Amino acid sequence: MVHADGSVSQTWNFLKQHGLQGFIEIWPRPTATAWKIIFVYGVFEAALQLFVPGKRIEGPISPTGNQPAYKANGMAAYFVTLVTYISLWWFGIFNPTVVYDHLGEIFSALIFGSLVFCIFLYIKGHVAPSSTDSGSSGNLIIDFYWGMELYPRIGKNFDIKVFTNCRFGMMSWAVLAVTYCIKQYEVNGKVSDSMLVNTTLMLVYVTKFFWWEAGYWNTMDIAHDRAGFYICWGCLVWVPSVYTSPGMYLVNHPVNLGTQLALYILVAGILCIYINYDCDRQRQEFRRTNGKCIVWGKAPSKIEATYTTTSGETKTSLLLTSGWWSLSRHFHYVPEILAAFFWTVPALFNHLLPYFYVVFLTILLFDRAKRDDDRCRSKYGKYWKLYCSKVPYKIIPGIH
Ligand code: NDP
Repeated sequence: MVHADGSVSQTWNFLKQHGLQGFIEIWPRPTATAWKIIFVYGVFEAALQLFVPGKRIEGPISPTGNQPAYKANGMAAYFVTLVTYISLWWFGIFNPTVVYDHLGEIFSALIFGSLVFCIFLYIKGHVAPSSTDSGSSGNLIIDFYWGMELYPRIGKNFDIKVFTNCRFGMMSWAVLAVTYCIKQYEVNGKVSDSMLVNTTLMLVYVTKFFWWEAGYWNTMDIAHDRAGFYICWGCLVWVPSVYTSPGMYLVNHPVNLGTQLALYILVAGILCIYINYDCDRQRQEFRRTNGKCIVWGKAPSKIEATYTTTSGETKTSLLLTSGWWSLSRHFHYVPEILAAFFWTVPALFNHLLPYFYVVFLTILLFDRAKRDDDRCRSKYGKYWKLYCSKVPYKIIPGIH
């Protein structure tokens, strides 16, 4: 993005000319400034997570029968973060361009620091697990990669996955989107319409995320994936760097789309974010009301699926088979991928790298759909088979 214009061929030429050594030489190293920025941001977000008031919310019952409780203060923390960050810039106290100018060093520090953090999680899982939802698979690499604990906490209240996934990772997405916009403004004296569309769509997406954060605590990331390298390193490193990368590209590649095209892209992106939100909302409302809700104007159609927990108890879950959930088993991934495409397309098609996130996300979600189906098949057995016969497509209705 910075040294080779987001161009694969330029990067290749650079490598041919300078070899791996040249690449290592331009690779940014962590600096004191980078550590300071990460530390202040991390402590600020941890303090908001702990001290901003919020309603007590209970998460889903875990495989060993625990029910974690959370403080739902995400939207307030998000609001405080953005207002504080923009005010620091507005009143000349801290210029976000400092973050952009040290971004390589910050990402480098995050890569290394998060690895150390994942080692800490691995050791904690062995010596001081927070609940019975933990344990070793007997293989060190699997334990490190997939994690030891489902709900690790520091003390009783500080939930580590809420911090890594939501308050550090997702929050950094919004903070960096604003940073890129401000950097372009400070360099060019104005913000291009392509940057405005990109920033607005990413902010709408992250705002939706925090609006629905308590719902996120019911999804695979929190309720099924343990806290290991896969999810925690991903949220601490991959989200701030790769997820925000279309905006980073636009900083020094301003594109003028024209008002009409910019508006079309903006509306299409917002529509996709809304549909993605509505899919999640529909499923959660259905589960919350035990099926006693209205889905697309009618009483929902459903399957009552029984399953046995690891402690031998028999329980029942409802599977929704109408509304968005009748189109395919993971239809919500379609608008998720399209939304990412719409906040990238303002970069137009000069270079491939801005599209890296969309390509990565598509692979991630197709893999996730398979993992989720496998898990549900082994959890629900014949009921999942029945569900698949009613809703035969995995992601793209009529195709896949
Ligand atoms: P879901 O919210 O789809 O949750 C999957 C779980 O829901 C299943 O494991 C099952 O759990 C339950 N379920 C499955 N089918 C049904 C049904 N028909 N009716 C009721 N419950 C059902 O999973 P995700 O965590 O993948 O997605 C959540 C959101 O996060 C989506 O909007 C997705 O697009 C987004 N996302 C974004 C990513 C990104 O990197 N940008 C990555 C991943 C997700 P149970 O055991 O309770 O039955």
